[in-house]
Amino acid sequence: METKVLLPTAENINTVGSALRNGELVGVPTETVYGLAANALDGEAVKSIFEAKGRPADNPLIVHISDISQIERFDLVSEIPENAKMLMKAFWPGPLTIIMKKGAVPDEVTAGLDTVAVRFPSHPVTARIITAADVPLAAPSANTSGKPSPTTARHVLHDMNGRIPYIVDGGACEVGVESTVITVAGETPCLLRPGGVTLEQLEGVIGHVDVADAVLHQLKEGQTAASPGMKYKHYAPSAHIVLIKADDKKYIEYVNERASSGTAALCYDEDCERLSVRTYPYGAKEDYAAQSNRIFDVLRRIDEDGVKTVYGRCPETGGLAMAVYNRLIRAAGFEVIELA
Ligand code: AMP
Ligand code: MG
Repeated sequence: METKVLLPTAENINTVGSALRNGELVGVPTETVYGLAANALDGEAVKSIFEAKGRPADNPLIVHISDISQIERFDLVSEIPENAKMLMKAFWPGPLTIIMKKGAVPDEVTAGLDTVAVRFPSHPVTARIITAADVPLAAPSANTSGKPSPTTARHVLHDMNGRIPYIVDGGACEVGVESTVITVAGETPCLLRPGGVTLEQLEGVIGHVDVADAVLHQLKEGQTAASPGMKYKHYAPSAHIVLIKADDKKYIEYVNERASSGTAALCYDEDCERLSVRTYPYGAKEDYAAQSNRIFDVLRRIDEDGVKTVYGRCPETGGLAMAVYNRLIRAAGFEVIELA
């Protein structure tokens, strides 16, 4: 199959809208990362997403809409709780996924769970594609399962070339990490994945929100993940990544002592001039928006350059930095060295 990369002209949006309605897969831009979209009402089309990505079948997908009224129109959920309405009002359209009790969504989308994840993205091109398709779109990130998520059309082409008919190029993604995922299906709202909407922002709207164990810690053997996606090694380049928790001076000393040809540093912008290994800066020390915007592109470049070992600066864990930390500890397979 030839994969065509299309610009979002009116004609091309109609082309991909029809393709989606007819059960084909399309790589679509969103404000978070690029998605691999299929008609969420078509179980067979959704199955082909899992095949194209090599995604484990027990990892459910997010359903994307371009208008809140589509939740009812397509019978996506059995009920919209009051706190979900408040979250929608505050953060939609935007990088927040809300999990509610499911309605008439195919089991392929929800991996057999009795809940469904719904998101209303803010990227104007995503909205035009969903509206043209006139169906909700099930879409995980458009990477090969386990690899860093794609934030440009070029990244999607790298992973999906020959596997899908179309990719729509909507430019580089602004947020750069996947959506925040919150469930309101249980007793207490619970954050399952940190993203562009922070824990602090969520609590500002609906009060206390629990944080699932897997967000910041490695699950113990036998412990079940509240969100199936959290149990897998994820976002990882082929290079061996080790995170170093240390102040500026100790980090730089540690890395410079281990300088060799296959070694690199995944560092803050300010560290570059003091490091004697190849550097992959992922943003200024306190600029968490820049870090989330750049992290996946940097992880992909590390692989393109054939780096063997990467010493990464361990990100902070509050605010938007929580999303970057959550991705990087998974990319590092939870290998963190703490220098006192
Ligand atoms: P991705 O498709 O890469 O954006 O990942 C979607 C994330 O949402 C994964 O971590 C899924 O496990 C999670 N997810 C989707 N639907 C549900 C659900 N019904 N319950 C819990 N987690 C979900
Ligand atoms: Mg993903």
